[in-house]
This record gives sequence, structure tokens and C-alpha cells, in this order.
Amino acid sequence: MVGGRIKVLAESMRDEVTGLRHHFHRHPETAWGEVGTSDKIEALLREWGFENIRRGFRGTRSGVVADLNAGGEGPSIALRADMDALAIKEENPVPYASAHEGVMHACGHDAHMAILLGAGKILASMREELPGRVRLIFQPSEEGGSTSGNYPGAEHLVREGVLEGIDAIAGLHVWSPLETGLVAVRPGPMMSACDSWTAKIHGKGGHGAMPQDAIDPTLAATTFVNLLQTIVSREVNPKEIVVVSVGKFIAGSAFNIIPDSVEVTGTVRTFDPVIQANMPGMIGRIADGVCSALRCRAELDYTRFTPPTINDEELTSRFIETAKRTVGEDRVQASPLIMVSEDFSYYQEKIPGVFFLLGCGNPLKGTDNPHHSPRFNVDDDALPTGVELLAAFVADYFGARGDTGALKR
Ligand SMILES: [Zn+2]
Ligand SMILES: [Zn+2]
Repeated sequence: MVGGRIKVLAESMRDEVTGLRHHFHRHPETAWGEVGTSDKIEALLREWGFENIRRGFRGTRSGVVADLNAGGEGPSIALRADMDALAIKEENPVPYASAHEGVMHACGHDAHMAILLGAGKILASMREELPGRVRLIFQPSEEGGSTSGNYPGAEHLVREGVLEGIDAIAGLHVWSPLETGLVAVRPGPMMSACDSWTAKIHGKGGHGAMPQDAIDPTLAATTFVNLLQTIVSREVNPKEIVVVSVGKFIAGSAFNIIPDSVEVTGTVRTFDPVIQANMPGMIGRIADGVCSALRCRAELDYTRFTPPTINDEELTSRFIETAKRTVGEDRVQASPLIMVSEDFSYYQEKIPGVFFLLGCGNPLKGTDNPHHSPRFNVDDDALPTGVELLAAFVADYFGARGDTGALKR
């Protein structure tokens, strides 16, 4: 009874995994600076007999990747946790509150690392029974992409070959809007893509009283902002969920001066990779068209941060079976579409992947505050469930491949 054994092991590790979560929470590090965090993880993985340990990505010391049964044939699966904290000053009155001024694990990545370590330790203890390779990926900079322009950690790790020899991948996010112990997942698109863009509109500056001698970029920029919404209302299929938002509009310096140029910055969210790919063309065409009508010139700088998170149908239905058996049929929900993004999508662009949400919200413990808030915290009762889900999913994954060897449920 591998399933039952994993449940017992996960429960027996409750204090150890909670301790790890509190350690990471107390010592948060931001994107690409997760060095102390990586030291701790590397030491544990070595102690537990992991092989092929890779340390540091993108020329940093951040990130750890390690294998069980590295040389083995057979199927292979990776489990991923993100590692970075945020530049937020913690307001939680807990003994393990951040010791690093102005930095905080306010998204739950401390829990992701602790859960993955717990699952890794269980899988290491049963490695002889596993008919294939298990890879743990501790990934730096999940938040980094959208906040620092460094590009997402997952994109770098994929480029540096962490998926080589791997058939499938699973990952999770603790989720404070969801009650502790509940699991939410959906096949197909689940979390949106996230892009950013800046349109610089050049005119010719002049006196506000003599517009005939100037070329007004503000008029062109405001017209551009208005017409942008026709992408969603007139150009894209109404059945698709797409957002184009302007977040920044920088123009001018005084009441009587027509400025030389205007800068407009915004974001795009969509669940469809084709719409995402077409977006620079659509935005650029409107900017160019408006500018040509109004004698201005547009320059568009478009950055694709994150593709949509799209769960593989087959892997997800297998995960749902594992989850229902693990936490109970009534505690597994269909996830809504979520408009924020997750760079787990970079792995899913290469191999089948499943990403799920693990509830960690409990109003009685004050762990129902929003992610990225200075009062965000994780209900530690969610941790053993996360450990069990990941370890059980790996066991089931190998079992379902029909080459279970000694592995029986
Ligand atoms: Zn976050
Ligand atoms: Zn996060």
C-alpha cells in the first residue's frame, strides 16, 4: 500500500516540514539572490542521497536541481518549487518573521520549498521501488520576471537544460483564497499569460497656444489608448478572455507646453498563446495607424514575460485521481481561470505538466490575507497535504505507466 505508506510518512514529517518552512520564511531572499536558501536545500539533498546535483543558474549561485535514480531507464518526472521572496516589509507577529529587513516570503514560496523537500525525502526513502527518474527543481526568480525585468527563472532553467531526459512535470502554488486542505486544478488553460509593452509616441514640441507649429503627441497617445480597447471588443473572438490595460501614461511638463513625446506603458493578459503571439502586431498596428493619421511616429517595445499556464489534459486527469484519493473526493475542486501568471508555463511549453493550487487559507489563523500583502502567511496544516500529494502523484505516475516493478498501491 504505497499510497497509505506515503500518507503516514507525510504526516510523520509534519514538524520537520513545518520547521523547514519557518526557516525559509525567516531567511527570505529575492530573485536570483536565493543563495543561503540554495545552500540549505543542497545540503539536505546531499544528505538524503540525491544525485546529479546542479547548483546555480544564469551565472548565479541560485537554484538547485537534483535527481533520484539518475542513471535509470524508464519514465521520468520532475517536481518544481520556486524559491524567491518579495521586497515587502513583513507585518506578521510570528516568531519566525523575516529577519531580513524589507524582504518577505509573501507569496508562499517558503511553503513550496518545504513541501518539495518533504516529498523528496519520502521519494528518496523508496527509491528502489521507483522504476524511473525523479528530478527536483528548486527554481529561482518566479516573481523576478515581472518585477525586475530579469526574465522569469523558469525560462532560464529550461534554456540551461533542466528538462533534458524528463517526460512530465508537476508543481503547485499554495493559495490563500482557498480553504486549507482544498485542492483546485483544471485541465487546459488555468493561469493567464503576462506581457508588458511600452509605446513611445514622438511628435514635435511647441507652445500650447500655437499648435499649428507643433505636432501634438498627447492627442495621438490618448487616441491610441482609446482605440487599444478595440482589440478586445472588435478584433478578438468574444469567447476569449483577454485584457489590455494601460498602467502608465507619461506626458508633458507644464500647462502651456505641447510635449515632444509621450510614453504609454501597459500589460496584456490572455489564456491563448496565439492571441499572445499576435498582440505585438495588433498593438503596433493601432499605434502606427493613429500616429500616421496625426503626423506622429510610434515606437513599440513589447516584452513577453510569461506564457499562459496550460495543464496537460491526460496528466491533469491522472493528478485529479491522485488528489481525490489523497484528500477526499469532495475536497478537490475545479479551479477558476486565474488572471495572474506563473512561469511554470515555460516548462509546460516543452513537456506535459500539471500545476495545481493547494488551499492554505484559514481565517481563524489569519492566513487568508492576499498573496503579496505584508500580512500574507501560510496555514502550516496545508504542508503535509502538499507533501503527500506530490509524493503520491510521482508513485501514481510511475504506476500508471505500467512498469511499476515492485510498486503496488
Ligand atoms: Zn507571487
Ligand atoms: Zn508565487
